[in-house]
Parts: sequence; C-alpha cells; structure tokens
Amino acid sequence: MNLNTVVEVKRPASADEITQWRDGYAWLAGGTWLFSEPQWTTDTLIDLDQLRWPALKASPGGLEIAATCRIAELYRFDGPAEWTAAPLLRQCCDAFLASFKIWNAGTVGGNICMSLPAGPMISLTAALEATYTLWPRDAPPCEVLAAEFVTGNNANVLRPGELLRKVHLPASALRKRAAFRQASLTKLGRSAALLIGTSDPARHDLLLTITAATPCPVQLRFDEIPSGEALRQAIDARLPADGYFADVHGSAAYKRHLTYHFAEQIRVELS
Ligand SMILES: Cc1cc2nc3c(=O)[nH]c(=O)nc-3n(C[C@H](O)[C@H](O)[C@H](O)COP(=O)(O)OP(=O)(O)OC[C@H]3O[C@@H](n4cnc5c(N)ncnc54)[C@H](O)[C@@H]3O)c2cc1C
Repeated sequence: MNLNTVVEVKRPASADEITQWRDGYAWLAGGTWLFSEPQWTTDTLIDLDQLRWPALKASPGGLEIAATCRIAELYRFDGPAEWTAAPLLRQCCDAFLASFKIWNAGTVGGNICMSLPAGPMISLTAALEATYTLWPRDAPPCEVLAAEFVTGNNANVLRPGELLRKVHLPASALRKRAAFRQASLTKLGRSAALLIGTSDPARHDLLLTITAATPCPVQLRFDEIPSGEALRQAIDARLPADGYFADVHGSAAYKRHLTYHFAEQIRVELS
C-alpha cells in the first residue's frame, strides 16, 4: 500500500551516514510489513538495500547471515554435509504465512526485528544458538544472544535507531541433530506452535526451543534426553497455563496442547 505519511526515502551507502536518529525514522528492509499497513508515525524510510552486505558467508566457524539476506537466499543455501541441522533453514522458511509470496522481498533481519511470536527466523536462530550483532547509532557494535533478543509480542531489546547487522550461527550448533515441528490452524497459515529440538550427538543432551505458542522464545536445556514426564514438568515449570500467546492463530489452550504434543515427539525423535 502507499504510505502517504512518508515524505523522504534515504538510501545511504553506509549506515554511518545516519548519524542523528529522530522519531519518524524507520529502517526499511524488504518492506513486506512496513508496506502492509499505514505507518502513521513514520515520515522517513532509510533503505538498507544499498548497504550491499553479503547475504551469506559460510566458514568453519559457522554461518554468517546478513540482516538484509532475503528469505529466498537463505532457502537456497546448501551447507556442508556435516551441518546436520541445516535442513532447519528451509523448514523455517516454509513456516512463513503465505511462504513463497514474501520470500523474495522479506529479509531475515526484518523478520527478527518485527519480533512477532510466529517469526520463523527467530525460531531458527534461537534454536541454533545464534548471536546477533547490533549497531547502535551512538555506541560501538554489541552482541546479544538470539534467545534473549525478543522480549514480547512485537517487542525486543533494540533501542531507537539501533540496527541489526548480522546473525551468526555457530558450527557447533549446525552440527547437532535436529527435530522440527510446526502447526498452523490453516494451510500456510501463521504458526500456532513451532518447536525445535537439537541434540549434540556426542553428549546426547537436548535443547528445546518453543516459539509461536509463546510471546517470545522459551528454551529448555537438559544435560541428557529427559523422560516424557520430566520434559512435561520442565515445560510447566517455565510456562504456566497463562504464559501462552492467544490470538486468532490459536487459543492459549490449543497452543499449550501443541507444545506438549510436539515436545514429546521431538524427545522421542532425538532419543
Ligand atoms: C503475506 C504476509 C505473510 C507474513 N507472514 C509472516 C509470518 O508468518 N511470520 C512473521 O513473523 N511475519 C510475517 N509477516 C510479516 C513480515 O512480512 C515478516 O515478518 C517479514 O519477515 C519482515 O521482513 P521485511 O524485511 O519485509 O521487514 P520490513 O517490513 O522492511 O521491516 C519490518 C520492521 O523491522 C524493522 N527493521 C527491518 N530490518 C531491520 C534491521 N536490520 N535492523 C533494525 N530494524 C529493522 C523495520 O524498521 C520495521 O519496523 C507476513 C507479512 C505478509 C505481508
């Protein structure tokens, strides 16, 4: 849609050109959300496209994903054979509502910064123990764990003008075994629950990441694969019945049911 409050679009070649941040500014990535509804408080868009950050860089240390990497580019990425968790990349791209329609415009960073419960790039990067690099406007770059970035529905730790620059997925997490479960009330609908389990093949541990059913990611770590009963107790200890996210994509009770169901499936698959 037309954004008739916007009077200027800046296209900097470097983020450093934006020295002063003020109310009314917004970073523009793929624009799939920004152009999907009126932006009454925004008068200036700052397009990230001209920054030309390389989308994906694989190295022995892991995978670096630029915030501006398109979902379609991530979908096409083929990792080395030893990155056994790499299928999660495509599974999480497929978890977008309307999936392929927004793949070519929507970005990994835009999805993370939207910080919606059903943000599949949040699920992916939290489950793979990612670190995000943030560029504040008035301070040196800093890092934050993916699992600690989102603080609620459409809320995160970003301060005004702070830019998400990149995501680092460590090779140690990419080499884990992984199990993925996701459900939507409608085909290609927004996720009601998206759970990912990973396990280090040498340690037989379990990291369970619960997303979409909750306002922000919830992670449970176990030194060894727990029993079904222990897993359910651990979920209840972290997530009371009113800790689930109720919206048109599912009631809290439904999402709680899916969480128990998928967590148990993941536990069995990784056992
Ligand atoms: C049909 C359709 C289906 C959708 N399905 C889903 C879904 O299933 N799950 C979901 O979570 N969302 C969904 N969305 C919402 C949105 O399109 C996605 O979250 C998308 O990934 C946003 O990415 P973008 O690059 O288009 O972000 P933009 O729309 O460009 O930006 C989104 C927000 O993030 C900020 N931002 C973007 N990049 C950065 C950065 N690097 N640093 C700091 N701030 C930044 C922008 O200022 C803006 O506030 C959907 C939208 C549509 C239209």
